[in-house]
Amino acid sequence: MNANAKVEEKLFQNRYRVDSGRPHIRIKDEELCATQCGTQQCTICCPAGCYTLEGNGRVVLITDGCLECGTCRIICNDFRNVAWEYPRGGYGVLFKFG
Ligand code: SF4
Ligand code: SF4
Repeated sequence: MNANAKVEEKLFQNRYRVDSGRPHIRIKDEELCATQCGTQQCTICCPAGCYTLEGNGRVVLITDGCLECGTCRIICNDFRNVAWEYPRGGYGVLFKFG
């Protein structure tokens, strides 16, 4: 068993309560991701795999399972294209292992 598998096993222990219709992270301008960003590092750095790079260069964000680590906001610092806030109380990730 490698280290990644262990991390994934631990992540699997977390529970995530989706706040339907109220994502706590938003891409402000999807066109900018596709045409100006170039590196699209959010698709590589997000530990929960919330950002997906599509074949046409577009980036899709699905916040289910987000760990609220804030990495995507920091990695997008050049463009500041990620609107990020903590979920409402009672929603979001519930950590089982801290
Ligand atoms: S890093 Fe920022 S600008 Fe680049 S693809 Fe991700 S959200 Fe878009
Ligand atoms: S806050 Fe962390 S886990 Fe959530 S989408 Fe951003 S990088 Fe991924």
